[in-house]
Amino acid sequence: MPNQESPSPIPAKRPSGTSAPLTPGYAGHVSAVNCPAYEPETVEQALLEALTPFGGIASFVREGQTVLLKPNLLSPRPPEQAVTTHPTVVAAVAKLCFAAGASRVWVGDSCAGDHSEKRLWEKTGMTAAVPAAGAELKSFTEAVKPLPVGDLTVPVPSWLEEVDVVISLPKLKTHILTVLTCALKNTYGLVVGHAKAVYHGHFPSPREISHFLVDLHQALPPALNIVDAVTVMEGDGPANGTPAHAGLLLAARDPVAIDAVASRIFGVSPAAVPLIRRAEEVGLGAADLADITVVGSGKERAATCRFRHSRALFLQKLPPSLFKLTTYLLTYRPKINQTTCVRCGVCAETCSQDAIIQRPDGTYRVEKARCILCMCCLEACPHEAVDVNSPARWLRRRRRKRREDKAV
Ligand code: SF4
Ligand code: SF4
Repeated sequence: MPNQESPSPIPAKRPSGTSAPLTPGYAGHVSAVNCPAYEPETVEQALLEALTPFGGIASFVREGQTVLLKPNLLSPRPPEQAVTTHPTVVAAVAKLCFAAGASRVWVGDSCAGDHSEKRLWEKTGMTAAVPAAGAELKSFTEAVKPLPVGDLTVPVPSWLEEVDVVISLPKLKTHILTVLTCALKNTYGLVVGHAKAVYHGHFPSPREISHFLVDLHQALPPALNIVDAVTVMEGDGPANGTPAHAGLLLAARDPVAIDAVASRIFGVSPAAVPLIRRAEEVGLGAADLADITVVGSGKERAATCRFRHSRALFLQKLPPSLFKLTTYLLTYRPKINQTTCVRCGVCAETCSQDAIIQRPDGTYRVEKARCILCMCCLEACPHEAVDVNSPARWLRRRRRKRREDKAV
């Protein structure tokens, strides 16, 4: 994938408090614009406004290039559930790329779990929206090529070699393991299939997986990030949180700055997010809000709107060596809801630790001691049947049971 070096109308500025120099072109600037609804004209207008401070799409896409749009297509869920990037946003960016002279616009993401791509694309609205915009959906089940990332070799689709520019289109959501999923984490979907679950086994704590995700982001840097924050997911994302209307589109070259602004939307300091901290350490961008310039009609809204973060925020503070034991003792483990589970087995196939066991009666259960709390089962389940147990929930259940026992 050739590197895209585009001239920026925004001068690079080096944030205070960072030891590493900023990569040229990453400027600590974020565009935040109002986008009240997913109507095509509204999104297209908001997109034009969001890109204006960067010189428009022409600063990123040139005549004849092949562009990959990388939305978040976590699992086959409809757009209104706010699990995936909205198809209207994907289609609007694709049209803009063609208007800038792109010869091919591809759209692709590797979902969590073993789902058919046909079902994934249909459920997420991509089957209808992507071809209508003249773009093409790319499969992650074709040939793969190895990509060196740190000490590992990571499988990515071989067609990535033909891509000139990657534009990342994350959905803004909370994440029970990494606090939030936005620009920095979105690159993970370029890794093919089950390998993603396996890497969680190699890096079994928020801090360790954050280092790996930053290495991966450096190996596959998008030229531009456009965040779908019209409807965000608050609470315990990335799959089972609550959709909430934020009415924003965010855009930036700098993935750290855009994630820092996104973390504030959930009332979380960027310094509390290991992914952002690590990315700043290696010089990927600006993490200190004091060093980030936000422009656009949604600037005030981005600074003042607040949505609920995950209840597991404290997990970030656990040292990697104590993560598995502490979360086990605190009863933080996935729990399968036997009422909503349809016994499809996707979670068991996804789990790299073989911690999801099928009972003789066909139901599934989590073997708590084996679980590393990677959340892959929760992400992969298409039926919202996996939740996370916690001490608070355990106490609530105990109190309820005592009350019921007394009443009898
Ligand atoms: S929890 Fe049930 S419905 Fe969800 S993936 Fe597992 S088996 Fe399928
Ligand atoms: S059971 Fe535990 S280890 Fe297995 S996928 Fe779920 S969270 Fe990860």
